[in-house]
Amino acid sequence: MIRFLLFSLLCFNIVQAQKISKSDSRLITYLKTHVEYLSSDGLEGRRAGTQGEKLASEYITSKFKEVGLVPKGINDSFLQPFTINDGKKILPNTVFKINQVLLDPTKDFFPLPFSANTNLQKALTSPSLMEKDQPWMVDLAQDLTDGASSPHFDINNLIAEKIKKAIEHKSSALILFNSSQTVDNIYFERKDKSEISPIPVIYITKDAYLKYFKDSEASYDIEYAVEIGDAFRSSNNVVGYIDNNAPLTIVLGAHFDHLGYGEDGNSMLRGTQNMIHNGADDNASGTSALLELAFLLKKIKSKQYNFLFIAFSAEELGLNGSKYFVEHPTVDLSKVNYMINMDMVGRLNDSSRVITLGGVGTSPQWGERIAAVKNNNLKFRYDSSGTGPSDHTSFYRKDIPVLFFFTGLHTDYHKPSDDADKLNYKGELMIIKFIQDLIINDETSEKLVFTKTREQQTSTSARFSVSMGIMPDYTFSGSGVRVDGVSDNRPAKKAGVLAGDIVKQLGDYKTTSVEGYMQALSKFKKGDQTKVVISRENKELIIEIVF
Ligand SMILES: [Zn+2]
Repeated sequence: MIRFLLFSLLCFNIVQAQKISKSDSRLITYLKTHVEYLSSDGLEGRRAGTQGEKLASEYITSKFKEVGLVPKGINDSFLQPFTINDGKKILPNTVFKINQVLLDPTKDFFPLPFSANTNLQKALTSPSLMEKDQPWMVDLAQDLTDGASSPHFDINNLIAEKIKKAIEHKSSALILFNSSQTVDNIYFERKDKSEISPIPVIYITKDAYLKYFKDSEASYDIEYAVEIGDAFRSSNNVVGYIDNNAPLTIVLGAHFDHLGYGEDGNSMLRGTQNMIHNGADDNASGTSALLELAFLLKKIKSKQYNFLFIAFSAEELGLNGSKYFVEHPTVDLSKVNYMINMDMVGRLNDSSRVITLGGVGTSPQWGERIAAVKNNNLKFRYDSSGTGPSDHTSFYRKDIPVLFFFTGLHTDYHKPSDDADKLNYKGELMIIKFIQDLIINDETSEKLVFTKTREQQTSTSARFSVSMGIMPDYTFSGSGVRVDGVSDNRPAKKAGVLAGDIVKQLGDYKTTSVEGYMQALSKFKKGDQTKVVISRENKELIIEIVF
């Protein structure tokens, strides 16, 4: 209904020739200045938890101060700190001694990320012995040499087999090494999400093996302890407020983080280590719009609304900053009328002027509110869904109406070439003016009614011939894929999958992570029937699903 109404309105939308006023051209200069600084190489791609992100947050803070915003982070600061789970790390209690010699945990040995933790254990053992209640020292050489010729060989499967065998024979720990010339590619994968093994699993590097226990018949005095813990990065949202003593508040948001050098595996360009991803469109553009809207909305001295401006961090890691904010809000969320999200608003096409407007289904009133904006030179491609790959999703999940402004994907998306000189600053100004008018034109002062919408699929679904119709929780740090939302009339819903379920296995494929889940999905085609192993409230369930 909303779509139809809005679509018919488009036909009357007359594109006016634009003359740029002095104040507008000044605003364009400001936008450019913000984007050029935020996307400069000095900020190294603003990866959450880095110095570049910190510099960006300082810049935003200084602008918020210039506008005269009230700090709405914590402790009278504009910053709202939060931590990001960054996988696993080997803690200092981890030791390995052989015949009284202490090995170096960085180059001589390391526990595998799924190893059980253990306090100090002592044993006398030998690679030639495999006894109950003793650590086993297992050489991977033969299997690696045999496997080299097989296209299906997988080192992780081999290790899993060795662990299984060791457990069956009640070994107390597994110490792996490789005496062959075949490269084994074993390393400490900090993002590993495999189930924790019941016994410690330690890998001895080639150098240490040659140095300390080359003799496979000898007995060795060993001591070992393993402690693996969670690694964290710390990050900040930047939050500022205009308090007009009004009953309702409008939230405006844009994420300011980007990919850094692509260390988190989210670059679209493969093999580009050491290249800065500047993120001019994604999302220095939205951040600069946020800063200028703060200036504009401070000037109007609204009596109807208070305004909360949030520059989110760690959006690129899975909306971490906005999820943290809605769980730890610094204003009363029940008084938030709606949330406006700007993510990638710098690439408006000058001739088509088409912009995607998401979230229009989150309130039945959006249609008339949007139609009431007179000074509108944009053409909207409407998306009713309140969810999508950006921060408005977090607010939608708290039953808050949202609007999401997005000028579209392009060939520089998530690549080092997303640079400031490719942005359409005049186009960005049109979007800012639209948002300003949308807010000011509203004379009703009434709270929008919230409506639930369909779930939008994650952007990767196009590469697959099937999907389950779930929205994965990208911030879930456990093993498996935690379901954040389930789409109506899709396979997962029909099979009875619920939000909160953890998908552990799809057919024969274990799905320990979202990436693993995507891999598994790509193996199925439409009409295929298979079983899904899910964990619901710590109970394992097996359900049938038809794609
Ligand atoms: Zn992005």
